[in-house]
Amino acid sequence: KFMLEQDAANVPIVQQWIDKWCWRGYRLLTLVAMMQDYMLPKRVMSWKEAWEMYAEQNGGALFKDLARYGIREPKGWKDACEGKDHISHQAWATFYNYNAAAPFHTWIPTQDEMAWLSEKYPTTFDKFYRPRLEHWQGEAEKGNRFYNKTLPMLCTTCQIPMLFTEPGDASKICYRESAYLGDKYHFCSDHCRAIFDHEPEKYVQSWLPVHQIYQGHCFKPGTDPTAEGFDPLIAVLQYYEMDIGRDNFDFEGSEDQKNFAAWRNEAVESRNAQGEPK
Ligand SMILES: [Zn+2]
Repeated sequence: KFMLEQDAANVPIVQQWIDKWCWRGYRLLTLVAMMQDYMLPKRVMSWKEAWEMYAEQNGGALFKDLARYGIREPKGWKDACEGKDHISHQAWATFYNYNAAAPFHTWIPTQDEMAWLSEKYPTTFDKFYRPRLEHWQGEAEKGNRFYNKTLPMLCTTCQIPMLFTEPGDASKICYRESAYLGDKYHFCSDHCRAIFDHEPEKYVQSWLPVHQIYQGHCFKPGTDPTAEGFDPLIAVLQYYEMDIGRDNFDFEGSEDQKNFAAWRNEAVESRNAQGEPK
């Protein structure tokens, strides 16, 4: 506020910071959205409810206050508000499909969890996301659990896989590109592209893991990518020191599942023991 009050010429500078960092923060929160809606053993509040309370209500009040200085709501705000119905489902679907390459487990939500998601997302879950989950579940039950063996393209700005859909069309992946000094760069959204276009000399330096892997920079010394049958995914998991089959793939049947069940039982037993009169 000091900056805004002392010199009106600061307003566009501060506005640009707000536009950029709100969008970048919002994109990163995609992972939080996914954890809230899909990964917590006890669901407390959906991402959509959290967004409405903390962003639309609290953030909205802040921007009403700042309007007197000539600050408007961040660019991308409307798209972020539309995204509250989609991003957690899109992120989980992506990790489920690319779970061979992620160092944690995924699963299909139980019937109860899906009922919770239907209730929390009445306009989108049953329409777009439940049918896909049920399809994948059916395939897995037939022994066709699908693991994508490639790696997803990353947005040059936010570095998140290009998993987001077009504003107004949740059936189409949003894809943008820009050229800089003869090279082409890819983005998940208009806003990530705009952030890049404002400071391309900064973002062309991004170390994008997927791009580095495919350029051969993430294999153990002595690896020969030209060898017959070379599998870049297996080679990069070895480079990451991931224990294939233990650190990745389905939660169902995993060591983590057994540990979680055992530790939870121990915790319950110890609580019960403490509660008994001496
Ligand atoms: Zn992006």
